[in-house]
Amino acid sequence: MNVWCEQLVVAGTVTPRVRIVGEAGGTVARLEQGVDPSPRDLRLGLVIPGIANAHSHAFHRLLRGRTHDRGGDFWVWRERMYQAARSLEPDVYRAVARAVFAEMLCAGYTAVGEFHYVHHRPDGTPYPHRMELALSAAAAEVGIRLTLLDTVYLAGGIGVPLSPEQRRFGDASASAYLERWHSLAEQIPGLGAALHSARAVPPEAMKEVVAGLPPDVPLHIHVSEQPQENQSVRDAYGVTPVRLLHDLGILSARLSVVHATHLTQEDIGLLGDAGVAVVMCPTTEADLGDGIGPARELLDAGAVLAVGSDQNAVIDPLLEIRGLEMQDRLRSLRRGRFTPAELGRAAGAGGYRALGLPEPLRPGGLFDLVELDTRSARTVGAAPEQILLAATSADVQTVVVGGRVVASSGVLADGLRPQDLLADALREAS
Ligand SMILES: [Zn+2]
Repeated sequence: MNVWCEQLVVAGTVTPRVRIVGEAGGTVARLEQGVDPSPRDLRLGLVIPGIANAHSHAFHRLLRGRTHDRGGDFWVWRERMYQAARSLEPDVYRAVARAVFAEMLCAGYTAVGEFHYVHHRPDGTPYPHRMELALSAAAAEVGIRLTLLDTVYLAGGIGVPLSPEQRRFGDASASAYLERWHSLAEQIPGLGAALHSARAVPPEAMKEVVAGLPPDVPLHIHVSEQPQENQSVRDAYGVTPVRLLHDLGILSARLSVVHATHLTQEDIGLLGDAGVAVVMCPTTEADLGDGIGPARELLDAGAVLAVGSDQNAVIDPLLEIRGLEMQDRLRSLRRGRFTPAELGRAAGAGGYRALGLPEPLRPGGLFDLVELDTRSARTVGAAPEQILLAATSADVQTVVVGGRVVASSGVLADGLRPQDLLADALREAS
């Protein structure tokens, strides 16, 4: 398929009248600038590269709009999340993920990193790969690009065994995880990996897992989301979580750290020097009262930024990108903390890199794009290079993944609507 667009906006640069020529395999052969459309081209308006959701737990969507009544903090919310996890078995998990991935696609996310830890039956006995294959099938059904981040989760806290609710998340040991991961990798191409956190994986196990994975596999970890996490790591090991990862030799350009909210100056320097990707999840960090991470400082130090919807209380990549800028304004009392180019890179190239994927919409890159409505009540009059700061997911029109239209104006290519899939999935999960 070839696409012609009135305007192509890549990292803050606007190019008029661009023809995107595809090639077999769903990649871009070349971009032709300032040209007329050919008769068979799909004609679009303002187009941006595909947007990566670099951190998701699909099943957390079950809690949306249901946890605002009793206050509390992250840890109180976590108890309710454990309750939601109880209902999951492979068919329900597949239905929930399919609906949530459908919502993501229609909202403009073309790729997702699913940080998956609900591996086993509630009592901890295995479903051999059934939960993982359910996620993979759900993504394939709707057409989103999935990097499954299969997660190692060994402890309920530092020196604390898994609680009964956590038993289904856990593998018996680092080597049991690695055995499961390598067997799964034969069935799921492009499989990624994750260490849940420094709370849930002891240092020696982190080291063993990282050494046992192929060196090019994307690796993610939750880091310093909550002050209590930092405190327990300090109490046990005498260092911050970032410093611990550094000392274990785990900080590298293939690592993505999620949240990175409560950091020291030294932490920022270590993450920047290693060129890690930092996945900020602004809507979740606000929803859970996590705090605001030093995104600007991390970018200046050399880290790559990406965004994620995390608990999926909000699925809107434009609000996530805008949240990155707005929360930094609230923190710094300054406007324009990120240029439109930097925000564009976090949405596209940065997120794709975090998921181990080539940059979208470049020659040789992935043919993934999102068309935005420039004439809606929200966007009319906006400068094209600033549209990420005006549009919402309601302005997402055509979505293309791998050179194929997968969604259009809130409806999947096969005519199904995310809200219907979500209603069915919620019924199955209740
Ligand atoms: Zn998370």
